Amino acid sequence: MTDRLQRFSQKYAHICSLSSIGQSVEGRELWVMRITTNQTADEPGKPRFKYVGNIHGDEALSRQLSVYLIEYLLTQYGRDVRVTELVDRTDIYIMASMNPDGSERAVEGDCSGSSEGRENAKHYDLDKSFSDRDESFSKTSEDLPEVTAVMKWILEKKFVLSGSLHGGSVMATYPFDDGSSYATAELTADEAVFRHLAQTYTENHPIMRMDNPDCPDVPDKNLGDGIDMLTWAYHSTDTLAVNIGLSCELLPPEELLSEYWEKNYGALLHFIQQVHLFVRGMVTDGHSGKGIANATVVVEGSSHYVHTSSTGQYWRPLAPGSYHITASAPGYTPISASVRVLETRVEQVDFKLTRGTLSVEEGEQKDFEKLVEWLLAPGELDQLVRSLLPAQTLRYRTYRERSEFLRGLTLNFPRITRLYRYVVLKMCLYFLANTANHLIKVPLLCLFEYYLSCSVSCSCM
Ligand SMILES: [Zn+2]
Repeated sequence: MTDRLQRFSQKYAHICSLSSIGQSVEGRELWVMRITTNQTADEPGKPRFKYVGNIHGDEALSRQLSVYLIEYLLTQYGRDVRVTELVDRTDIYIMASMNPDGSERAVEGDCSGSSEGRENAKHYDLDKSFSDRDESFSKTSEDLPEVTAVMKWILEKKFVLSGSLHGGSVMATYPFDDGSSYATAELTADEAVFRHLAQTYTENHPIMRMDNPDCPDVPDKNLGDGIDMLTWAYHSTDTLAVNIGLSCELLPPEELLSEYWEKNYGALLHFIQQVHLFVRGMVTDGHSGKGIANATVVVEGSSHYVHTSSTGQYWRPLAPGSYHITASAPGYTPISASVRVLETRVEQVDFKLTRGTLSVEEGEQKDFEKLVEWLLAPGELDQLVRSLLPAQTLRYRTYRERSEFLRGLTLNFPRITRLYRYVVLKMCLYFLANTANHLIKVPLLCLFEYYLSCSVSCSCM
């Protein structure tokens, strides 16, 4: 597979690039093929999409169809109108195998679900091993380097929409659709869009459209103590992700591969096209007109929120209906808007935010003193935290929310702040002011310790 991907990346270098986001337990590269025009720039107007295959190493079909899809997109670009348009307008990432160690151990023609090669080399089910809470999670990144790499990748790329490709079933599923105890009120705004996305796949698949065939259960030997990728992505990242089951067989014989490709490729392409529907827009600074990076966009009734790109753009998949959307950024006053989403239209909703009481125009030292003064005033820090964290309910703040808070400040006060250490999978963040004056550095640091501890205890929010 590595050779094949490398050959593609050389032959079609104008529209693709191959890179590794990390290594498996046994040192195999975790390859990702990026397919889009203009590889060098983060082009405005292009939403990011990803497919991840072979999360379970024995589900070889998901790996094989991912490679076929890469080949199809590359060879049909410039020939097929639909493919050309997709590659021109979308930043597509395909990881054909998240579990290369497991897939080496899997056995061809195994339809019985013996599950050899299902887990990674340390015998963990990668799809059950996601977590953003260090304290309740016993595994280390040495046990799960694949998960660590994928989490970091997803957090960094902020994909708008994702599909996880599996075997052992022929259906599309989404977080909480099994009626589990996680299915709480927080899904109210998003259940409809998940149902819509799952249906999109189903309706474009010749088998799923007719019927959902029952597949034999795949034995789950080693359940991880984490959560699955979809649930983690929904709570902790910008990505809405759907699981797609491609076949009952996990590792079908080679002669059946083209048949499976024929059944699935239309639905795979159609699912990517969904990233262009729904709500999109710009969050800009009302004074300068520049896009605000990393601003938060929240839909009322949903705990899933998205962030703007480096150019201030955002995308938010939503099912047809009426919504109340709020955009906020650290140091700015939040703004809300009502939007009606129709089935076949893209809704453009832009937000122009204005600065709060703090100005960064008056020179570095003054800015810094003002920031400290502002944060030290009674109630100001709480207000800042509230303006940044949109949900008004009293609850624990996640690691991600705390990280976004610090990152937001560094983005909006770049001249006077510096994120000294940012460790994606550890609960330790240090925020130091970039100033010669040590007397001022201390209270700022204390304030952030105060913020972090209060966000854990909830007593002051
Ligand atoms: Zn699977």
